[in-house]
Amino acid sequence: MRTCLGCRERHSKWVLIRLCRTGETLAVDSSGQAPGRGAYICAKMECWEAARRKRALQRALRLPAGVPVPDRVAGLVEGMISNSTPETGWRPDQGQEEVLSRS
Ligand SMILES: [Zn+2]
Repeated sequence: MRTCLGCRERHSKWVLIRLCRTGETLAVDSSGQAPGRGAYICAKMECWEAARRKRALQRALRLPAGVPVPDRVAGLVEGMISNSTPETGWRPDQGQEEVLSRS
């Protein structure tokens, strides 16, 4: 069981989308097994938006101040959410990595 950053409820791992940060790389970890610092959110748009709004995601991933979640990662997560259904959850797509940009 893992806690969703958006709603703070505990869910089984397989209904949650895992983001994983390893050094300068942020990935959507569809395996759930990648090493590194992970953050979990439900496959629901309201949880994703809440996690970003509260900056819970940045804190959980220990992103340095001024480093946003890359748009491509956000887009991938949103795509997974919009493809998910309450019955099946999100579909494990290919994991995707994005190098964090310093700004
Ligand atoms: Zn949630």
